[in-house]
Amino acid sequence: MKMRAQDIEFTLIRSARKTADIVIERSGEVIVRAPDGFDDEEVREAVADRALWVHRSLAEWEDLNSSRRLRPLVQGQGFAYLGRSYRLKFVADADVPLRLKNGRWELSEAFVATEGEPAARKAFRDFYIAKGFPIFTERVHNLAPLVGVEPGGIAVKELGYHWASCGEGGTLNFHWKAMMAPQTVIDYLVVHELCHLRHRDHSDAFWNEVDKVLPLYRERKEWLRVNGAALDL
Ligand SMILES: [Zn+2]
Repeated sequence: MKMRAQDIEFTLIRSARKTADIVIERSGEVIVRAPDGFDDEEVREAVADRALWVHRSLAEWEDLNSSRRLRPLVQGQGFAYLGRSYRLKFVADADVPLRLKNGRWELSEAFVATEGEPAARKAFRDFYIAKGFPIFTERVHNLAPLVGVEPGGIAVKELGYHWASCGEGGTLNFHWKAMMAPQTVIDYLVVHELCHLRHRDHSDAFWNEVDKVLPLYRERKEWLRVNGAALDL
């Protein structure tokens, strides 16, 4: 349900919980989770009480996302892969649209000329998905026993503003853009989703579980918060 308190617009989700909680989603949306028993007035009060924090967080979100724009596909442009930036080089004699070779992205000149820029960007996305599947599969297999869970399946795909999600039947989905992040951050995303197989929420019990497997998770979560918006094509 969409609501408003002072000048803050938010989406309200009521559930069986004890306290109200406010988060700013990666999309910039304000989500308020409140106990079932709270009436609208109590919800608005809870938001008004934290108005300063919400405004500060939204300003920070604007800041982190203002740099978000399409990277021009020009010679020398950097595109990240597993935490490192590699420069783009146009090549004339290529048998695949895009590959990473000798520390350079090699993009086929002929492919861009005939298929256009959107197709070239899709070639990047296809590359991340193709490389991402075996990498995420390997990390999930290594880390799942530490959490003591067995995921139903793994997918690397477009997830909009979410880095990862845990679907029906325990399928773990990861955003292809996560392949631009360092391996340590990928491990954090994997552990995070694996722990959701035990706890569906972000309760203390959930974070304790994450902490047990990945004591440095706060650093990685913070890395993602600060650098996440720049992980784009
Ligand atoms: Zn989560």
